[in-house]
Amino acid sequence: MKNVAVIGAGTMGNGIAHTFAQSGFKVQLIDINEASLKKGMETITRNLDRMVAKEKVTAADKEATLNHINTFTNINEGVEHADLVVEAATENLDLKLKIFKELDDACPKDTILATNTSSISITQIAAATSRPEMVIGMHFMNPVPIMKLVEIIRGYNTSDSVTNTIMAMSKTLGKTPVEVNDYPGFVANRILMPMLNESIETLYNGVAGVNEIDTVMKLGMAHPMGPLQLADFIGLDVCLSILNVMYDGFKNPKYAPCPLLVNMVNAGKLGVKSGEGFYDYSESRKAEIVSKQFVK
Ligand code: NAD
Repeated sequence: MKNVAVIGAGTMGNGIAHTFAQSGFKVQLIDINEASLKKGMETITRNLDRMVAKEKVTAADKEATLNHINTFTNINEGVEHADLVVEAATENLDLKLKIFKELDDACPKDTILATNTSSISITQIAAATSRPEMVIGMHFMNPVPIMKLVEIIRGYNTSDSVTNTIMAMSKTLGKTPVEVNDYPGFVANRILMPMLNESIETLYNGVAGVNEIDTVMKLGMAHPMGPLQLADFIGLDVCLSILNVMYDGFKNPKYAPCPLLVNMVNAGKLGVKSGEGFYDYSESRKAEIVSKQFVK
């Protein structure tokens, strides 16, 4: 494999493009939104600059990585020579079904189609294509260039050979792939999201404030980041979508999203990406806690 197309240049897409490009793949980074592509390339450049400053890569590596990435706003232009497509567009079932139908029509017949979805059924996405045996979940963790895990999710029809190819290829990226089956939330989010939701519920119930909840989990459980800060980093809209997928998929009320999470998403408070969630990320108030107002 040499050519990889990445669909979506947001939080995850730019990290996935960076990681493949740094491992020598030619990357076509595609986003319908020109501003997202620009922001994505700026993020990749900034992250590479940080790596150069820490002497993790050389300035020449940085240039080579950036030279491996081309950007497009149209799916048809970017995927015609792709050996692999990794889709990392917004977490929305109808959007993913539409994108996979388009990819199936536009890609060569032997292109493997992977999705970075956090929770949506790989089997359902694969059914939108004429090649369900070649569709697989490739769930990278945020921030992609740093986090080692890739959850590899086999859909009902994913072939052994495609699974083996993607497992091996993940290792060439310096990642540790773990194979799991296709049920709502897979493994990572089935365990993580109820914990994040419960921490929001704890705030909503007025048991403790943002700082108290995050401090308990950091110092008490040795988590590197508190759950409310982590939810801000993941994106509160992404957390809400994942919880809804698990709630619908299992028909179990234990996955019901906390009303405070729903309210914050409706209010446009999406965490780091919108500048405010449980914390304020504006330049002047770097990561200051703002959601005390939600404590009853
Ligand atoms: P994001 O909102 O930061 O970025 C999504 C990008 O997709 C945007 O730039 C948007 O313009 C683009 N997009 C929307 N429709 C498109 C289309 N038709 N064609 C091309 N691009 C399109 O979202 P994100 O957090 O990067 O999440 C992307 C995917 O990765 C989701 O499926 C999410 O569940 C998954 N994921 C997210 C995280 C996380 O921590 N944020 C972690 C693992 C997996």
